[in-house]
Amino acid sequence: MSNKVIIFSAPSGAGKSTIVNHILGRYPELEFSISATSRSPRGTEVNGKEYYFFPVEEFRKKIEEDSFVEYEEVYPGSFYGTLKSEVRRIWDKGHVIVFDIDVKGGVNLKRIFGDKAFSIFIQAPSIEELRSRLIHRGTDSPEAIEKRVAKAAEEMTYADRFDHILINDDLESALKEADIIVGEFIAR
Ligand code: 5GP
Repeated sequence: MSNKVIIFSAPSGAGKSTIVNHILGRYPELEFSISATSRSPRGTEVNGKEYYFFPVEEFRKKIEEDSFVEYEEVYPGSFYGTLKSEVRRIWDKGHVIVFDIDVKGGVNLKRIFGDKAFSIFIQAPSIEELRSRLIHRGTDSPEAIEKRVAKAAEEMTYADRFDHILINDDLESALKEADIIVGEFIAR
């Protein structure tokens, strides 16, 4: 089957980026879907690499123009979405799209893409562990961390709506499992 997509969703801090980056390095036919966002770039983030950064008015304009496959106000005032043009860009190259997307977005994309999609929920071991990972990452304020932890607790309840639950309490084995399930999906 052509025009496939792989969806990775997880509560923030569950180690999603590490797993997604590993998988992208492992299979050359995979390509990361660059989302649009209205939040500002963090750290070393570059426009057109991690995200397409848009001022909020421009993001709203694109919503009105029906430019998105899906979008979500992930945090109050911060919009994130997948542009239809991004899906076309990657499929035109014959590549399999990899989405790194919030839990609700993941459920939506699975509904939209159906059998073309393989959806993976990355489960962090516990809320306490999650909090300590976010603190360790050092990119968010204490208030932002508490907001993310509360959100994560709610998001954990969505796990059973995904095709596969990947438990990330040991990174090495999580990466191995990710290799296997992604390889099987690509070969299908
Ligand atoms: P961050 O600001 O930490 O980069 O991302 C915050 C959350 O937004 C993450 O869970 C990320 O996966 C999610 N996200 C990124 N792109 C999209 C998107 O296109 N749509 C939705 N619904 N969520 C996204």
